[in-house]
Amino acid sequence: MSLVVMKFGGTSVEDPAAINRTASIVAGRVAAGKKPVVVVSAMARVTDQLLRCAGAASQGDRTGALAISSRLRSRHRDTAAALVKDHKQAAELVNWIDQKFDQLDEVLRGLAAILELTPRISDLIVSYGERISSRMIASAFCERGVIAAHVDSREVVVTDSQYQKAIPIDSIIEKRAAEKVRPLVDEGKVPVLGGFIGSNEAGITTTLGRGGSDFTGALIGGAMQAEAIEIWTDVDGIMTSDPRVCPDALRVKVISFEEAAELAYFGAKVLHPATILPAVKRNIPVLVLNSKNPTNEGTRIISLAPHCKSPFKSIAVKKKLSIIDVVASRMLMTHGYLKEIFTIFDKHQTPVDMVSTSEVSVSLTVDSNDKLPLIAADLSKLADVKYEGKKALICMVGEDIRGQNGMAAQVFAAVRHINVRMISQGASEINMSFMIDEEDADEAVRSLHGVFFQDPDPAIFDVEARKQVAQAVSSGSPRE
Ligand code: ADP
Ligand code: ASP
Ligand code: MG
Repeated sequence: MSLVVMKFGGTSVEDPAAINRTASIVAGRVAAGKKPVVVVSAMARVTDQLLRCAGAASQGDRTGALAISSRLRSRHRDTAAALVKDHKQAAELVNWIDQKFDQLDEVLRGLAAILELTPRISDLIVSYGERISSRMIASAFCERGVIAAHVDSREVVVTDSQYQKAIPIDSIIEKRAAEKVRPLVDEGKVPVLGGFIGSNEAGITTTLGRGGSDFTGALIGGAMQAEAIEIWTDVDGIMTSDPRVCPDALRVKVISFEEAAELAYFGAKVLHPATILPAVKRNIPVLVLNSKNPTNEGTRIISLAPHCKSPFKSIAVKKKLSIIDVVASRMLMTHGYLKEIFTIFDKHQTPVDMVSTSEVSVSLTVDSNDKLPLIAADLSKLADVKYEGKKALICMVGEDIRGQNGMAAQVFAAVRHINVRMISQGASEINMSFMIDEEDADEAVRSLHGVFFQDPDPAIFDVEARKQVAQAVSSGSPRE
């Protein structure tokens, strides 16, 4: 069958050079006898800029919104012109891009008049990023000998109507993929779809949440029973921590679905948290690979990871959290009390990350959001409530912490200089998490990394890369 889904993130399609690299990676897979289905993000930073446009317009700043849109138009036009050499085809593509930006500007003008940004309009506005990138990249592939066919993913990824975080409907996606994507593969073409976007059953544009292109890749891979799902990004794979925070982070060669899901949920941006599920359901391996270093073998996510000598595989950090303390000395042990607390979070559709209870209090952590005052007001009908923002959750993940004694002592010794607010070891027993002030988070990760990845297991971690850097430093040769 040899069908592989290849998802390329924003940095892998950020400019003509990156798109050319992406085209050669796909061409390489075709030459190796694979049948790729490609999912692409918007060009790097475009989604943020479209959201800024929407924000400006809804505040009545029509000129500001149109100015951002105009810069985005130029960036896409220039990229298209650089990628497509045939004059007629380039003109057609640029013309099409202009039409899309004309439509977007129309929406922005409307928004600047009505001054109300609904989640539905926000999804419509951000969808232009992936709609335009996918069409442009399909044309660029054709120029480079990859016979590509653009597919509007809104016709395939059908979701419910929860704008900005829509839930996909698997059965319809499977049917649509069979109707609209499979025949192209059978004809020997490479379908190119935009990630992140979908539509509800009425055909109105929705999105899967920030970072959602990974999720699209996994959904298409699951629906088409791909032999592998490849997530191409700008780092060598899943690393022992975010390399931006910890420059000596190591690549994890192999990791289990469960560990990867935990990491993603607790803030490792390298994968969207929902990505793993469609792959787990069908036992499809997921690979995380670097489009700037395509020969590197990346990280393989599989159902059962081999035993690892080190207790942890990686450290994730989730920032922008708030902690809510609910204190009620008399009521805590009474029947149904916790249920009442959770009913309030449910009412406000706010998921809770971590919970800890004592004799008299319950502490909960949630993503900081503007519903917090309302949640606190409801909770205060039950008990005394305090909440505080600017918190971060550090989450250490690894299958091999199961049943290890003394692990907590080692973890907290490594961060003894930092004030820890809340601690939890999940029932899954593969993560240990604790909450600290956001300003201490990076320092805590570096300290923990220094302790737990000093002598890493070479079967699981890429220690060669670290050795090469150490050799280069000691021989005085410049680092590449
Ligand atoms: P893309 O645009 O390809 O989807 P993202 O920016 O969403 O890329 O994700 C890749 C980034 O995730 C990396 O540049 C890195 O800074 C960050 N990251 C956070 N945690 C990790 C981790 N444990 N391993 C690798 N990358 C991580
Ligand atoms: N472009 C979207 C975002 O920036 C989706 C993605 O790239 O995964 O959130
Ligand atoms: Mg991403």
